[in-house]
Amino acid sequence: MRQVMVAGNWKMNGSRESVKQLIEGIKAGAAGVKAEVVVCPTYVFIPGVADAIAGSGIKLGAQNMSDQDSGAFTGEVAGPMLKDFGVEYVIIGHSERRSLYGETDAVTAIKYSAVLKHGLKPIFCIGETLKERESGVTEKVIARQLDALLYAEGVGSLAHAVLAYEPVWAIGTGKTASPEQAQEVHAFIRNKIAKLDEDIAAGLRILYGGSMNPANAAELIGQADIDGGLIGGASLKAEDFLTICKAGG
Ligand code: PEP
Repeated sequence: MRQVMVAGNWKMNGSRESVKQLIEGIKAGAAGVKAEVVVCPTYVFIPGVADAIAGSGIKLGAQNMSDQDSGAFTGEVAGPMLKDFGVEYVIIGHSERRSLYGETDAVTAIKYSAVLKHGLKPIFCIGETLKERESGVTEKVIARQLDALLYAEGVGSLAHAVLAYEPVWAIGTGKTASPEQAQEVHAFIRNKIAKLDEDIAAGLRILYGGSMNPANAAELIGQADIDGGLIGGASLKAEDFLTICKAGG
């Protein structure tokens, strides 16, 4: 039985004060939630959030990570640093990193390997653009993005990772994939992995991301192959985020 996971990607938002209020609000309502709850603040807020969630059961994630261990890499943050602050998950291959910062499949694979090497867990994002969906190549794109990590680390590595299917056209647009559209791609992903290893596929959590909100979360998470959500905009309001966290039962 896969535990539902709901991860909030706060992106480059917040101030010391607003982040404090947000995490206190989430903490106040998260007790007894059955889902695994993860918050991913931007780097500078990680220490404060780490202190705030100590003992609460809420997990900490980062939005990015260097592929290097330490040294002369100005502006980068390494895996051991994140671990030092209690980070457990790292988002890799988010479409904003792919499209705005030029992270190719090869780069995402290298980062995926680095995250695993440091004993952290990747939340590996994949998803097609609107143009790709309309050209009928969604599955081809998803397969290519997945192959990058499979060639680098093999199917066994997915025992320590989470996938997030995030159609690029649904991220931050208010346009959500329908439950059927999302389920179709999630099933494709699970079947692709099952061809390599049925047990890994059965245990693999595949989150949906793309304008998930309190109104649509239950139906999306209710689909057979959707195991939770990676939440952007709606994770910035404690009440909305908590409603989504409770949507999986
Ligand atoms: C995201 O950026 O991962 C995301 C899903 O954003 P939003 O929920 O705002 O669409």
